[in-house]
Amino acid sequence: MRALGDDVDPSLGANAPGPQVATADGGVVVGDANAELVDADAPATWKGPFTEYGRYGEPTGAQYVRCSGCGVEVLEGETEHATHRDGCDGVVEVGR
Ligand SMILES: [Zn+2]
Repeated sequence: MRALGDDVDPSLGANAPGPQVATADGGVVVGDANAELVDADAPATWKGPFTEYGRYGEPTGAQYVRCSGCGVEVLEGETEHATHRDGCDGVVEVGR
């Protein structure tokens, strides 16, 4: 007995419409498995700090953090003054 799908050429999927992405090794990633998923229910947090680089790729000496809710980036220490984008409740900073 043959299982359904035995005749399907696995390479066909690469050209099929839909959320499939051909990867470098020839595999196919279905959906957004590699996407950075944001849990809308989770409270936003500051990610980082990251080193800030200037236009020529050199570190500026500053560090910045990124809101996990809306992606806004602000210099470390300036988070109280961050302006979050629509739909982001901002980061609740605890321990203050
Ligand atoms: Zn935000």
